[in-house]
Amino acid sequence: MGVIIEVELVTEICCSCGMAFAFPKNLQDKFRQKHDRFYCPLGHGQYYSGETEAERLRKLFLEEQAENTSLKDELTALKKRVDAGMCPHCHRHFANVSRHLKTKHGIGAGWGEEPKG
Ligand SMILES: [Zn+2]
Ligand SMILES: [Zn+2]
Repeated sequence: MGVIIEVELVTEICCSCGMAFAFPKNLQDKFRQKHDRFYCPLGHGQYYSGETEAERLRKLFLEEQAENTSLKDELTALKKRVDAGMCPHCHRHFANVSRHLKTKHGIGAGWGEEPKG
């Protein structure tokens, strides 16, 4: 009694000798994800060098994270300067920056408000 199983096969052409061969799709997925080396029936080693979707997204995520980090750093530096008494608009020093912001730039206390007019 044999066991009948269904396997989804994918075909590949050896990049060295041109031999066409088939292997299970789940192996191909693994090869693609891990860039594992596999061999054609004649023994030529090869691997998928292309970036996977996961890798692409990860790269994108890291880039965005770096961007966010630098924005955050900039904001922190700006807040620090203001806390030290420097107006972020005219770059002058005042003992009471929040009062200066309100009277000279029309900005209320707190962050995120833009001057009107
Ligand atoms: Zn080959
Ligand atoms: Zn100012």
